[in-house]
Formats: sequence, structure tokens, C-alpha cells
Amino acid sequence: MIDLDAINSDIGLTFDDNQGTPWTDADIERLALMYFSMPRPPNSVMAERMGRTVGALQTVISRVGMARPGDKLRACLGVGCQGQRKFFSAGVNNRICGRCERDPVMGCAA
Ligand SMILES: [Zn+2]
Repeated sequence: MIDLDAINSDIGLTFDDNQGTPWTDADIERLALMYFSMPRPPNSVMAERMGRTVGALQTVISRVGMARPGDKLRACLGVGCQGQRKFFSAGVNNRICGRCERDPVMGCAA
């Protein structure tokens, strides 16, 4: 039996933005708190608070599939990611990210 949560914490997160600075889990959770708050702050405000560019912010929001309030950041278990990337999943049964669903071969490796 493989302990996926232990593996995930070992791997950590490396979402590179245009500035080459990795996004940590904590960064993304912090962004999600703002993104899912009502009313949602403008991207420019969230970017400033995160110390990122608006472009980098939009890239990460899109990449992790941040869409629905209540979604949780979970590791993708798809062929392309193999637990090495996280995305916003609707529940414990939703463990394949959009990229892996669309293209099981390339997945998030692209
Ligand atoms: Zn994936």
C-alpha cells in the first residue's frame, strides 16, 4: 500500500510562473482564499497581494483548475502527473486533472 499523501508532501509543488518563482501549496491556498471570497477581488489586487504579475496569477489559476468554491487542492493521479502536480478537485473521487482527462499521454508534463 502506497501512502500517497506522504509522497505528495515529499514532492512539494513547483508551479513556475513567468518570473520563474515556484508557487508553493501555501501560495496557492492563499490565492484560493481570495479567489473564492465574495466578492472576488480584481486580478490586479490579488496579484499585488501575492507579489506576482497578473499574467502569472492567471496562469496558475488556469493550471490548477481553480473554479468552484469548496474545491480542494489535491494531487492529480493521472498518467501525466502521477501525483506530482496538484489541481482543484471537486472531491476525493475527482483525482484526475483536466489536462490528464483531455490528453492522458501528455498530461501536465507539457
Ligand atoms: Zn494531471
